[in-house]
Amino acid sequence: MPQPEDLVIRRPEGLYCPAGDFHIDPWRPVERAVITHAHADHARGGHARYLGSASGEGVLRARLGGITLQTLAYGERIDVNGVTVSLHPAGHVLGSAQVRLEHAGRVWVVSGDYKTEPDPTCAPFEAVRCDCFITECTFGLPIYRWRPAGEVFGEINAWWQGNVAAGRPSLLLGYSFGKAQRLLAGVDAGIGPIVVHSAVTPLNEAYRAEGVRLPPTLGFSEVKDKALWQRALVVAPPSAARGPMARTLQHASDAMASGWMQLRGARRRAGLDRGFVLSDHADWPGLVGAIVATGAERVIVTHGQEGVLVRWLQEQGLQAEAMETAYGDERANDEGGPESDAASATARAAVAPSSDQDQA
Ligand SMILES: [Zn+2]
Ligand SMILES: [Zn+2]
Repeated sequence: MPQPEDLVIRRPEGLYCPAGDFHIDPWRPVERAVITHAHADHARGGHARYLGSASGEGVLRARLGGITLQTLAYGERIDVNGVTVSLHPAGHVLGSAQVRLEHAGRVWVVSGDYKTEPDPTCAPFEAVRCDCFITECTFGLPIYRWRPAGEVFGEINAWWQGNVAAGRPSLLLGYSFGKAQRLLAGVDAGIGPIVVHSAVTPLNEAYRAEGVRLPPTLGFSEVKDKALWQRALVVAPPSAARGPMARTLQHASDAMASGWMQLRGARRRAGLDRGFVLSDHADWPGLVGAIVATGAERVIVTHGQEGVLVRWLQEQGLQAEAMETAYGDERANDEGGPESDAASATARAAVAPSSDQDQA
């Protein structure tokens, strides 16, 4: 239930801070937007002014072009109409930030998307003390427990090596912003050449410009020697799998890296040879650990399967509620393709028959 002193409320255009008169990741055009990160469901075009993290400037501009953008270093504080605003690492993708708001002795934090697992392509998640924590819960069911990324990369390398031995290309699907760079940074580049889809290239450049170390990559048109494909790892977004590159890669072994790959049905429906469970979102222990670490007495749950997490938090004695948002489109593009929704619905039905059904 909204209360009169709430620092963040939901308005038709998105999350809104009444005291500071600005929005956070709004889904409709507004005057002033604080952006947690550059994924499509959080950073939309059309706002008059943007505020975002300094390390996320390159990726935000790569996606939205010539916007009016003010940037803040992590931890730097500014005053917006009497509200102290600062950004803190969310560990999700390059530049991703939690938004901390302080006003009249109260502190609220809006998490954006986050993960607590280490990732060499972005700053690690920072627990920020607050009175109220607005958390995402993309994978907010106890069935979601990620294995360490190092083990998953071991599997990916072994798959790639096996394909090289068999003389066939390896097509690894993952969203072009965030997942692709994490894959590039994590694989063993000594196994063979790495080719990236054109959607990945500008994001790679933004990452490299920010000092993130990625192995050398080739664009499709730079592959002159056809024999090179037989040893290549090709990193491309799921949406490209049925595009023009499909001919070149018709004999490839294909795989996807996504948290949804934990659901056997998702991989089967996508018709892939392999599914690697690698997510840029927190798993259940990650969500619970992050929430507890904030010390918040009140938790507002968004962006996922809210019902189960809300009930769990209430059982721990916290004040918890769900807030409906327009986030989560990235489930289709960032976490594994159109099959993901079906897979997610299956999990919801199996594990949480009475949980919220209202998300996009
Ligand atoms: Zn995201
Ligand atoms: Zn999101």
